[in-house]
Amino acid sequence: MSGRVYLVGAGPGDPELLTLKAARILAEADVVLYDALVSKEVLALVSRDAQLIDVGKRAGKKLLTQEEINSLLISYAKKNNVVARLKGGDPLLFGRAGEEIEALRIARVKSEIVPGITAAVGAAASAKISLTDRRVASQVLFTTFSRGEQANWLNWAALTPETTIAIYMPGTHYGEVAERLIENGLSPETPCVVVSQATRAEQQVRWTNIAALSCEAQLPAPSILLVGRVASQSVTEFGAGINPEVFRSGEAIGLRLVGRKQN
Ligand code: SAH
Repeated sequence: MSGRVYLVGAGPGDPELLTLKAARILAEADVVLYDALVSKEVLALVSRDAQLIDVGKRAGKKLLTQEEINSLLISYAKKNNVVARLKGGDPLLFGRAGEEIEALRIARVKSEIVPGITAAVGAAASAKISLTDRRVASQVLFTTFSRGEQANWLNWAALTPETTIAIYMPGTHYGEVAERLIENGLSPETPCVVVSQATRAEQQVRWTNIAALSCEAQLPAPSILLVGRVASQSVTEFGAGINPEVFRSGEAIGLRLVGRKQN
């Protein structure tokens, strides 16, 4: 008989942002394998009897390979009822959940996903930004910036001025991110906001724009960049107005009335 592995979203840090289901599973778990991004306040909710295993990365150094983590999940599931694989944010976004789900399926271990609040959504709340503010945005792109081997996977060609871009793992080179955004057609004046340690007590929100991004001091990790017209404290000042481009895209999402009023 084998137990079940729950891939649980720990959210961005504030333990009150956990789902009730996540909290219940942490309280019932026999084993919890957690990542470096999981906050200590969330870990405090794990049952005292549970075995806690740190499988995270420290300063870029992996404690365990993905294959080792997959094998651990399978072997713990064979000996326990409830195994929680606790990941920062939502387990299905930039969390390597795909590999784990596949390994569990092949090993015929039951699994279940418990969603969490992803960093982009936590950061938007911290900065009080509506990611899809209908006056200036029509879509959201969750992406990442990596200078490693993943770099050639990035395809920002779909960027439009009405796209809100959430950039996970922006690294320590905001300047390179800025260059890349400009290369992909965004105006240097496009607003952006850096949110560090979103939803945690130490959270910091830095309002800037693409042109100024390279001069911004590095904020403590984890941090995320939100880029686009929504990333401003007064969205209507930046290009919302009667900009024909916005009007055109506004039609597509039902903003026609706003355009008419202004005419
Ligand atoms: N699965 C996670 C993302 C893992 S990738 C999620 O859904 O949020 C790790 C990246 O997420 C970090 O490099 C950072 O860019 C972002 N991140 C995670 N927690 C964050 C937080 N509290 N504040 C800001 N960014 C965060």
